[in-house]
Amino acid sequence: MTDRLRPAAALLAVAGLLGLAACSAGEQLDGGPTVLASFYPLVFVSERVGGPDAQVQSLTPAGSDPHSLELSPAQVVRLGEADLVVYSSGLQAAVDDAIATQPPAEVIDAVEAARLDSAGDASPFADGDPHFWLDPTLLVPVAASVADQLAATDPENTADYAERAEELVAELEELDRSYSAELQACPDAVLITSHEAFGYLAERYGLRQEGIAGIDPEVEPSPARVREVGELVRDNDVRTLYFETLTSPQVTQQLAEELGVGTAVLDPLESPPTQGDYLTAMAANLESLTEGLTCDAS
Ligand SMILES: [Zn+2]
Repeated sequence: MTDRLRPAAALLAVAGLLGLAACSAGEQLDGGPTVLASFYPLVFVSERVGGPDAQVQSLTPAGSDPHSLELSPAQVVRLGEADLVVYSSGLQAAVDDAIATQPPAEVIDAVEAARLDSAGDASPFADGDPHFWLDPTLLVPVAASVADQLAATDPENTADYAERAEELVAELEELDRSYSAELQACPDAVLITSHEAFGYLAERYGLRQEGIAGIDPEVEPSPARVREVGELVRDNDVRTLYFETLTSPQVTQQLAEELGVGTAVLDPLESPPTQGDYLTAMAANLESLTEGLTCDAS
């Protein structure tokens, strides 16, 4: 029975692909401008600003590591047909390549929008850290760029894009204020993380990030690095090693056990959180930090 249904399903799939391919560049569907955002935080910003007036899709499937994204030829074609692509250059080689070979109508590069590359030699960007979205203030200029670009593509809804961007900016600024207020008591607290995704957060709120492994989540720490982390823990009264959603907690947990300290989770927001959104996950990260860091008052 199911076998007999298969050819029909295959035909439908082919028809679907043809339908996609027949939709030419710049052509608007009923749902307004089409936006492809390369991974979660940019999807979040695009959806909040676009609201019901734009069609936002993610290039990175939920639950997968955006660093190692690969795009099929069909996805590269679709990217070229989008009204707007929002991405962060240097984070996903497949997206950088696709934009170069199939340029979409409009592109927002978060690195340019948030001026990450002109922040100086001491910035996390200069260290090769791409995780700028963990400083919520750096999503503010991205939200503004998305609103401007959507307004240029779809002038009828200019006021709505601007209003939604303003609302989002207010929420990002509120989040920033709570981080500053809560982490004030923890100047230079040592934040030990499984992979170095929190450089921007540490920089903004005066923490000292030390990664067990490097910026690449796939790299296992060397025995020498494990010894150094042990010294850091002892010298700085560190109580918690942080590991991340999406990465295997094993190395961190084993090390924490050896050192007699606890572990806690931080979400680097590289993928949609299982509950809530960027703002609620960042609030949960703040709670995890205030509970686990060694601060003045604790
Ligand atoms: Zn990462």
